[in-house]
Amino acid sequence: MMVRVIVNGKEVHVPEGETILTALKKAGDAVPTLCFFGHMYREASCRMCLVELSNGKLVPACAYPVSDGLEVRTDTPRVREARRTVVEFILSIHRIRCWSCPRKGGNCELLKLATAYWVEGIPVCSSCPLYGRDCLVVKGEPCLGPITLAGCSDPCPSNGSPCIGCRGPVTRKDVLEAATQFYVSNGVELKDVLEVASMFWEGLPNYDALKASLEEAFKKALGGGED
Ligand code: SF4
Ligand code: SF4
Repeated sequence: MMVRVIVNGKEVHVPEGETILTALKKAGDAVPTLCFFGHMYREASCRMCLVELSNGKLVPACAYPVSDGLEVRTDTPRVREARRTVVEFILSIHRIRCWSCPRKGGNCELLKLATAYWVEGIPVCSSCPLYGRDCLVVKGEPCLGPITLAGCSDPCPSNGSPCIGCRGPVTRKDVLEAATQFYVSNGVELKDVLEVASMFWEGLPNYDALKASLEEAFKKALGGGED
């Protein structure tokens, strides 16, 4: 038997026993999924596919069964906030080293989600396609890609110019420390990084704290440490 589901105001019909995800696909309103692999895995572990029902409940689309007349919204403020929290949780245990990640070049679902939901942590390097050129830091240039927030689609390094940080700094301490180790191992000095960083960041309310974190991270990296 087919049941009627209202997805963002659009009516679709799906077989009874199917999940909301099937109705969303039929309506052409996709939601992000990370842990869903069809019949191989559908345990609703990641919660990226949360949607809001008309009674205000948030439910995972990949596991919640459809029923006749069910009303679903996929992009409400509560849904976006919940998904943002999910991405933050995932990233909180993610070892971010985008400058040397083999997925660099756009094939990173976490980058896409972090950018879509404005989650802190992922740097410009994550999407730098490089077009076959060497990384600018590896060539000794103080590119701010490792410590600048992703989301600009990296036009500068893609065109052979260093990132000068116009999108704003990454402030996660572990990312700053790992990025600093990357700078140090390629001979890029703190003064050069700060010279570039001061252009856009000097007026930021957290600039002094950021500068102190970078100084501390450089000191640590020059004294030896992990990575
Ligand atoms: S060129 Fe700059 S943005 Fe691209 S990977 Fe290297 S450091 Fe990162
Ligand atoms: S300078 Fe700005 S636009 Fe250019 S790569 Fe860096 S953040 Fe993106």
